[in-house]
Amino acid sequence: MSKKTPLIKTQGLSVHYPLRATKLFGAPPVVRAVDGIDIEIAAGSFFGLVGESGSGKTTLGRALLRAAPITTGTIEYDDGEVSYNIENVGKADLKDYRKRAQLIFQDPYAALSPRMTVRDIIAEPLEVMGITKTREETDARVREIAAKCRLSLEHLRRFPHAFSGGQRQRISIARALVSNPKFVVADESVAALDVSIQADVLNLLKDIQHEMGLAFLFISHDLSVVAHVCDHVAVMYLGRLVESAPTRQLFAAPRHPYTRALLSAIPSLDPDDRGKAQKLDGEIPSPTNPPPGCKFHTRCPYVKDKCRIDEPSLVVEKGHGVSCHFWKELMPKG
Ligand code: SF4
Repeated sequence: MSKKTPLIKTQGLSVHYPLRATKLFGAPPVVRAVDGIDIEIAAGSFFGLVGESGSGKTTLGRALLRAAPITTGTIEYDDGEVSYNIENVGKADLKDYRKRAQLIFQDPYAALSPRMTVRDIIAEPLEVMGITKTREETDARVREIAAKCRLSLEHLRRFPHAFSGGQRQRISIARALVSNPKFVVADESVAALDVSIQADVLNLLKDIQHEMGLAFLFISHDLSVVAHVCDHVAVMYLGRLVESAPTRQLFAAPRHPYTRALLSAIPSLDPDDRGKAQKLDGEIPSPTNPPPGCKFHTRCPYVKDKCRIDEPSLVVEKGHGVSCHFWKELMPKG
């Protein structure tokens, strides 16, 4: 794979769910969960995806794993060994892709079967996917990945109920990594943990990313966590990408009014910053009936007539993309 080839690249990716018709005539309503997304995720990178609940983050993550139905658009995967067009990949290639692209679940309590030992939980993907042929081979791989996730041999013999939330999440991480994937979707993977444990799990993910050269899609509503671990951040609103930039650039000079509102809501220790949070009025609109023009116009304090009619496209300048007609004039001076 050349240095410039992204591990994952999407073009015009959409996931629409048709609902049951409520009227006798006319087309049934459609939930536009993900609507025309173009992203590139580099091999070995930590790519953050943020936005409010209902913005489409989880659906996008699931579409990249082929766990959500793709309505239109393309997903190209290229890890140097194999390349696939994920949107129309065949059965055999999809089986291979499942080894290469994995998911870490949000809830470490619900994700683990209470009737299986930790060894069996971690070994399950190896057996289901036919990666290892003998019990010795499976055990060796389980022990190797458990050590990477800071789990001891003693831990492997126990059942999930014997572990704390942080330890359970390390078991979930070990299970996701045991097939030696190249791409991992971590969907709110630390959201259910205490703040003190969150740092521990985040540091583990970063260490593993360096060691295994993995790419993470890190989905989170918590921008302070994203700032800590991600190299690049994309912001979603109502199924669309509204901003995308390297993390430092996005946090230093956010271009979209929605991103600025999200960043201003991060709690600050500086007393001068208190009370500066920009309140977002109203709720995120329904994806079955998105507003015309700019999807954010119903909540944007800077809305103009053009915004209600014309939808802005994502314009990229110096590696920083934004979809707002007026971002340049809205940037703070100086
Ligand atoms: Fe606000 Fe208009 Fe920009 Fe949309 S296009 S973010 S409504 S200023």
